[in-house]
Amino acid sequence: MGVNASGARLWHRLGMGPLWRERAVAQPAPVEPAAGRTPAPLDWQGLEQAVAACTACPLCHSRTQTVFGTGSRQAGWMFIGEAPGAEEDARGEPFVGQAGRLLDNMFAAVGLGRERSGDQAVFIANVLKCRPPGNRNPEVAEVAACAPFLRRQIELLAPRLIVVMGRFAAQSLLRTDASIASLRGRVHEVAVGEARYPVLVTYHPAYLLRNLADKSKAWDDLCLARETYARLAAARAEGPAGP
Ligand code: URA
Repeated sequence: MGVNASGARLWHRLGMGPLWRERAVAQPAPVEPAAGRTPAPLDWQGLEQAVAACTACPLCHSRTQTVFGTGSRQAGWMFIGEAPGAEEDARGEPFVGQAGRLLDNMFAAVGLGRERSGDQAVFIANVLKCRPPGNRNPEVAEVAACAPFLRRQIELLAPRLIVVMGRFAAQSLLRTDASIASLRGRVHEVAVGEARYPVLVTYHPAYLLRNLADKSKAWDDLCLARETYARLAAARAEGPAGP
């Protein structure tokens, strides 16, 4: 199943070309702009409304509400998870269950937080904005339908560093089949619009709750993320190299 007509209209309304392509999904037919008019890309408020009203995939029938994302819209840090679970679906906020509590503790350990500001501020989003029933894995077509939202969130936030949590989010964002183990420990890049964003990969907090032995690896990942962020901030403060 591909993106339906309402999804395709939204895609166009988001002012975007083809999004990062899912390997198993046929590309939707390009959507032509209405004669002579290019719609303005959505701002944060418009995007949040578009997410709340989305009917682009069948998850709209089973959700309690959409889960847009939370944190500072000025944050330099963006954390991306998979999809809302039951508690997130009930509360409309990402990572508020047990995995979310672990994530908040991990943030606190490196001086970050969803209520913080400046370089300590984070924005948290998911690949999917609606809960898959029974917390099943997201389907390829659901990811394809939802991807323009995440892309626009990345564009609006323009984060200094993206951290993807878990195999599903990492493979979706980086368009790869590679394992978390092989993706961790180095900086990847994702292109959105004209810009390229550095991406680090780590374990999903829900995985860490079941695999305590890997918590030390997640700690290493967060330390690498903090170093990478500081290096990027310093490079930016220095400005472009002179002639
Ligand atoms: N797992 C996720 O990937 N996202 C959430 O928001 C909650 C649990």
